[in-house]
Amino acid sequence: MMTQADIEKLLEFDNHKLVTRFEDKDSGLCGYVAIHRTIEGHPSLGATRLWSYRSETEALCDSLRLSRLMSYKSALAGLPYGGAKAVLIATPNMLKHRADAFRAYAEKINYLGGQFVTGTDVGVEDKDISLMQKTTDFVIGTKVDPAYYTAISVTNAIEVALNRISNQPELGRRKFAIQGVGKTGSNILKLLYKNSAVVYIADIDKQKLKAIKKKFPRVKVVNPSDIHKQEVDVFIPCALSGVLNSKNIKELRCSIVAGSANNQLNAPSAGDLLYKRGILYAPDYASNAGGLISVADELENKRPSKERILSRIEKVRVILENIFEEGEKKKIPTNIVANKIAEKIFNGKK
Ligand code: NAD
Repeated sequence: MMTQADIEKLLEFDNHKLVTRFEDKDSGLCGYVAIHRTIEGHPSLGATRLWSYRSETEALCDSLRLSRLMSYKSALAGLPYGGAKAVLIATPNMLKHRADAFRAYAEKINYLGGQFVTGTDVGVEDKDISLMQKTTDFVIGTKVDPAYYTAISVTNAIEVALNRISNQPELGRRKFAIQGVGKTGSNILKLLYKNSAVVYIADIDKQKLKAIKKKFPRVKVVNPSDIHKQEVDVFIPCALSGVLNSKNIKELRCSIVAGSANNQLNAPSAGDLLYKRGILYAPDYASNAGGLISVADELENKRPSKERILSRIEKVRVILENIFEEGEKKKIPTNIVANKIAEKIFNGKK
């Protein structure tokens, strides 16, 4: 097992405020909570991911990277919350005892006394969160649908980016490729499809593809290994982290990358490569902030309001316009611009 000193040596460690491992032998639960940033008087927010990691270290590193991103996302969206994340390791034993594992996980969250508040990410379903609610108060995203609001903010980001490169943001005349049609990807598909756009999709889950094809018969299903190679206006990553690397960036045939996935770049240098290829990258944590904005509204108000959430999401358009403008003016990649803006906000608040 890793010691605190081992964790601090990891490249992904960024002075996180808390990193904790938890386990429940009876249900097979095992995972990590990482709290990157705390702001006095406010909890740190971050959804929970359930994934079949190859090792505990891989899971730990994912929690470190994702919690850091949540701090940047919250700061950029103008929210007063620190960033956090939990990852659960999906093993056959844990999945067999899924309900018990989520109950045990909810108990672990209670030990953090409300400093960590969580919801659904990849692999976690609404039913898991509803079950957790019976044991803990520190879950959100049951009165709003974060995936829907994430899709709205990503679609806005796509419009802003299209507008930037062509002055013709009409979605219906464009081609898109969506990688992953889960909770967020399918909501984005719905928004694009209703505009009669051409949409290619891919997913590793064949059942999901079958259901989607039935609902949206005009979509073109392609192989997961080929989705990024489609000749489209926008490549939309909506699956896991680190999907853009030095090899597959060379294979892209799009003008814009904008999607819901967190940590789309496998390293900051991938942002450089996109920039050099003339592909406009809408930084992930700026584009997908709609989900966080919606759960923050649920946390702050007895009754969340769609109108208030949508008006906050609209502000993300301005943030993205500024990022694109600054990147063009200073001739630097947009991921660097976004980080600088978020870090300025951190420093102002320290
Ligand atoms: P999800 O689990 O509902 O969907 C992810 C989909 O990607 C699944 O259908 C899965 O089968 C598919 N997938 C996995 N690997 C793939 C691959 N190599 N190629 C193609 N498809 C693949 O998850 P989600 O909630 O839609 O989240 C997707 C991404 O968006 C994640 O990175 C998440 O962190 C991010 N995100 C989600 C929200 C939210 O509100 N759910 C908010 C902001 C960001």
